[in-house]
Amino acid sequence: MMAPVRVRFAPSPTGHLHVGGARTALFNWLTARHHGGAFVLRIEDTDRSRSTDEHIASIVEALTWLGLDWDEGPPAPGYRQTERLEIYRAHAEQLLAAGRAYYCDCAPEELDRQRQAAHQRGETFRYSGRCRDRALGAGALRLAIPPAGATVVDDLIHGPVTFEHGQLDDWILVRTDGTPTYNFCVVVDDVTMQITHVIRGNDHLSNTPKQILCYEALGYAVPAFAHVSMILGADRSRLSKRHGATSIQAFRDAGILAEAMVNYLARLGWSHGDQEIFSREELIALFDIKDVASSGAIFDATKLEWLSHEYLKTKAGAALAALVEPFLRGAGLPAPADPARLAAICDTVKERAKTLVELVERARFYFEPPAAYEAKAAQTFLTPEGARRLDLLCARLPAERAWTPAVIEQAYRTLAAELGLKLVDLAQLSRLALTGGTASPPIFDVVALLGRQEALARLRRARAAAGGAS
Ligand code: GLU
Repeated sequence: MMAPVRVRFAPSPTGHLHVGGARTALFNWLTARHHGGAFVLRIEDTDRSRSTDEHIASIVEALTWLGLDWDEGPPAPGYRQTERLEIYRAHAEQLLAAGRAYYCDCAPEELDRQRQAAHQRGETFRYSGRCRDRALGAGALRLAIPPAGATVVDDLIHGPVTFEHGQLDDWILVRTDGTPTYNFCVVVDDVTMQITHVIRGNDHLSNTPKQILCYEALGYAVPAFAHVSMILGADRSRLSKRHGATSIQAFRDAGILAEAMVNYLARLGWSHGDQEIFSREELIALFDIKDVASSGAIFDATKLEWLSHEYLKTKAGAALAALVEPFLRGAGLPAPADPARLAAICDTVKERAKTLVELVERARFYFEPPAAYEAKAAQTFLTPEGARRLDLLCARLPAERAWTPAVIEQAYRTLAAELGLKLVDLAQLSRLALTGGTASPPIFDVVALLGRQEALARLRRARAAAGGAS
């Protein structure tokens, strides 16, 4: 019987979660969910000088926002490498006892000298193996790798990649000061967490042969590997801050919907025919790590915004209302006490917004009266004739208890017919009065949602601006 699928996302908490890391997390999560397996979150914090609790919290927050829930990991204990030092020590002893590792007391200065000399010759430095047969009792612990032959990484995305042992060396597992090295911790963690598929960025591909040799030395089966290609900017260089926002929180704060972000990240290097929009369930059903492209994927912010718009316009107003509150605060606007009203407001503007930030800007007029009227429209509409029409409108608008879009529309239609006007003439005049411009959601919805008192106050203000006696 096949072992249940177990995958892990193993960020180093030295910064925020970026697009590349988030996509790696997503591909792992989808693999786990597709196979009904487990998704493990492991924090690789052995680089103590750069790892911080704030970064762990930030990564956890970003994964949570994306909805990538983990089956094992923090806050449960035992998923931070700094909590696992005893486990690494035990495995180092096992390798030493089995004769698969040895101590080395070569002076760091001497190794540095050799390293520099190799670089000057244009060669990669390889440890000479000087201490291999010296049976020392202390020093740095090195893995004794088979000197001849090759190790093949049978990558699920790239196919077999061969590394000659002549290119590798007896790498250090534990430093002289007793601290385990990065590659050793990763192997011991993947072994003890029973990881079946290691899915990570292909910047780690060169570590993989070293790690495979360590699995073999420990006597454990090697997991499947998939190295996901890098994400590139439009200039095809590796995506970085130079290309604009890359942290997940920056996209959240720009008002991109989480569903859109997940959909976008899934399509960065993975595809299923020409389909662009995938529900989470579809992604889980269709995703296979083998279908991920081996070439780098280009990050396209315009496409992300397009997807965000697609999700925004189909999302229910009530769901948007729940998301929009921090953005209202950010724009200096009060959240309405009535969630149903906020939901209705969102419904009127979502068609024309790509992000929650834009949605709030388009809804701003619901929360505060226009600071000014669009000059050109004011010239056209705020005339003595405009003043007369505004007076009539104010007199004809329905009473409070009948304040609904349908009744308001009826009042407009009746007045337009009486005055021999087209409905649009009254509608544009009202838009200008209520929103300061001539582009807005359906005018009867706007009038209804502003409430009778506010709508009338704004119509009267415009009427005053139009001049003439009332
Ligand atoms: N901690 C590594 C990183 O953040 C990932 C290592 C791995 O997945 O094996 O790049």
